[in-house]
Formats: sequence, C-alpha cells, structure tokens
Amino acid sequence: MNLVEKDLRYIWHPCSQMKDYEELKPIIIDHGKGVYLYDKAGKEYIDIVSSWWCNLLGHCNPKINNAIKLQLDKLEHVIFANFSHEPAINLCEKLMEIIPPGLTKFNFSDNGSAAVECALKMSFQYQYQTGHARKTKFMCLTEGYHGETIGALSVGSMDLYARIYKPMLMDTIPVQAPDCYRCPYGKCRSDCKTECFEHVEKAFAEQADEICAMIVEPLLQGGAGMRIYPAIYLKKLRKLCDEYQVILIADEIATGFGRTGKMFAFDHAEVSPDIMCVSKGLTGGYLPMAITITTDEIFDAFYADYNEGKAFMHSHTYSGNPLGCTAALAVQELLRKDHILEKAAVRAEYLHHKLNEALLEHSHIGEIRHIGLVNAMELVIDKNTKQEYDSKLRIGYQIYKNALEKGLILRPLGNVLYFNPPLTINEEEIDKAVSICTESIKEVIG
Ligand code: PMP
Repeated sequence: MNLVEKDLRYIWHPCSQMKDYEELKPIIIDHGKGVYLYDKAGKEYIDIVSSWWCNLLGHCNPKINNAIKLQLDKLEHVIFANFSHEPAINLCEKLMEIIPPGLTKFNFSDNGSAAVECALKMSFQYQYQTGHARKTKFMCLTEGYHGETIGALSVGSMDLYARIYKPMLMDTIPVQAPDCYRCPYGKCRSDCKTECFEHVEKAFAEQADEICAMIVEPLLQGGAGMRIYPAIYLKKLRKLCDEYQVILIADEIATGFGRTGKMFAFDHAEVSPDIMCVSKGLTGGYLPMAITITTDEIFDAFYADYNEGKAFMHSHTYSGNPLGCTAALAVQELLRKDHILEKAAVRAEYLHHKLNEALLEHSHIGEIRHIGLVNAMELVIDKNTKQEYDSKLRIGYQIYKNALEKGLILRPLGNVLYFNPPLTINEEEIDKAVSICTESIKEVIG
C-alpha cells in the first residue's frame, strides 16, 4: 500500500464526504515554507486559505520553530490548576497590550469550539450568580459559525453543519444577520444605515429578560461565505447589550490578530466585548490553543469562598500548554518587530486591486468583497439578479479541483471562493495566486 492508500484505509478526514476522495485523492504534504506547502513529489501549493485560516505568518517560520524547540527541552506540559509557567504569564502580559480595553482575565483551552463553549458557560453562570437566573438563552446571528461542539453548534445557525443535529441542540434565538451583498432593504455598502439592526432591536425588546448573551463573528461571517458587515453594527450592539444587561461575546477566532486589517475586528468599532474568544492565529497556526478572555466584572462574580460553590468548574487537560503559549509569544514578538500589520495593509490593497483587475468584470463574479487580506468572490449565474448557482452543481468545488492541479489551495465555501492568506504573503506570491485563480475560474465557468 502506498501512503495515499494507507491514508484512505485509516483516516476519516474532517468536513469531507469521504466518497469524494475516490476521485480527488488526499494530497500528502511533506513540508511547508512561507505561503507554500510541498507534497511528497515536491509539487508546490500556495496555501491561500492559511490552512483553515490559522497560519498567520507562513509555514515553518524559523523564529517560531526555534522558540518551540527551546521550550520543548524545558517543559512540554504541566497541569494548569494550581501550577503555572512563564510562557503563559508572559503571553497574557503581551496580549494585554493589544486586546480591546477592559478585557483582563484569560481562560485557556485548546480549540476554537472549546473557547466558545467556555464563553457560553461563563456567561450563563455569570447571569445566574448575579441574580439573573432567568437569563438562560443565547442570541446569535443567522448564518453564524462558532464551531462544531454541541453548544457552539447551537449558536451557529448554518444548516449545512447543524441541520441533522437539531434535536440535540440548545434552543437559541437566531436573529436575521446583515447580508450586505443581497441587502433586503435594497441598499448598498456605501448608503447603508444598518437598517437590518432592527431585527436585533426587536428581539431584545421582546426577549431580553431571558437573553443571557449574544454571540457574533465580528464584521466577518466566515463560514457563511466571508460575509462582511459594517462596524457600526457592533457599536449599536454594544449599546443594546449594556441597556438590557446582555453579555456580548466576540468570536474573534477567525478575525483576530490582524485578519481584518486591525488587530481585532472589534477595534474597527472602537468598543469592547465582555468576552472574546481567540484561537487559530493565536499560535500562528502552529499548535492547538484558544483563550476565552473576559473582564474583571465577570471574573469577580465567580470569586468567593470555596463553599459558596461559585467557581468556574470548567477545565481542559491541555489548558495553557507551554508549547502553545511559547508559539503564541513568538507570534506576538514577530507581529511587533516585523511590523506585520502595517506591511499586510499594503499587500491587502495590492491583492484587492489585482483581483479586481483580473475578475471584477467577469460575468459570473457577483462581487469581490474584502476586509484586510480577506477577499471573497461570490460566484453567480447572473450578475444583475445575483442568482446563485444550484449548490448541487458544486461550482466552487470544481474550481477548487482545477486550481489544485495548478498549485493553488482555493478550498471554497459553497459558491464563494476566497483568499485568506498568511499576513506575510508578498506581491509575487499574490500575482501567482491571482493568475491561477483567474485561469481556473475561466476554465470551469468560462
Ligand atoms: N468560530 C469561528 C468564527 C471559526 O471560524 C471557527 C473555525 N473555523 C471556530 C469558531 C471553531 O474553531 P475550531 O475549529 O478550532 O473548533
């Protein structure tokens, strides 16, 4: 058996119909460097999706590698209850310099979904312990995505992931999310007055008594097809949450650490959430780690004599893993020393300009929306009516397969193709990626 055969013999790949692998075999990656991944035969692939949006500063960055190697010979892991270590403490100190004001306490876990579960439980217990035991429900946006565990799936309302599990899920309050490409109010991005915020206002007015927290993917609904909405929406949400004593949870798992052009998406709105979940780019995409960060006010509601039973009895074995913290610290150092965000801003303009030049006039590209280095191209049958392709045609997937042959990893979200590259991508790499993407689109849909 060769490696591919062995892979298919043993491995059940994530988020995949395994029958698809009969035709498109798994690509066995041997090594990576910068934006490139290399398979066993030496074929090069541009990782334009940052390996599920987590690789922040390129693959095999020598500085992150060395930091992890040094830490490995000192301490690989330690129980994080009652014990601590320098990498975790130093990391919190560094993060304090960049997170939205008011966030002060760090609860570690090991993946994005776990950080969301932690945020939900923390909010629920906070409300309970501060005399609001009736506030038990979570509000979320339609088409939101917050992970795959039961709680996270309950506040994510994308049918693609949640439909089959509905009988297992919590009863939540989904509110119509902004849809700026197909705005139901007939507005465009330039004349938007966040009319759609009325759905949130209505839901709060009717149900605030029972709402514990509202969770959002700030500015960028990634799983929904990189839908982008304006910062004013978050500002309004902050105000409403204060008015009705609802906790505001920012799921910055995909948007954190410069993906939207600022360090965090909430920075665009110049307001702070009460709880913020981070993961993915936190370790540069090196090691599974997540943090649920909250305020003194929430932390204090759990702080009491042991027998009062107010502690947050929530744990994950790998909480605060020293190797993960070390990788995250190295990322923090690189972000500052190499002025990554400033340089990424220049590349972001370049990338959007190049994509516009190559594809904006294409009759099946509805729009090329962008924020930071994230650019999403919505494939439509007709530009004027914005009519979607039937999902059964799997147009995005056909283009993905074509681009893979040419050395570009353009894994789509349904009919949406997107670029979400490492922040360190350079102009030459952008040119190459745009050129392959354009060729593949033209070969598949003309
Ligand atoms: N929230 C958001 C916004 C995400 O994009 C993701 C992952 N794509 C998650 C939560 C879940 O993270 P994980 O896959 O690490 O559980």
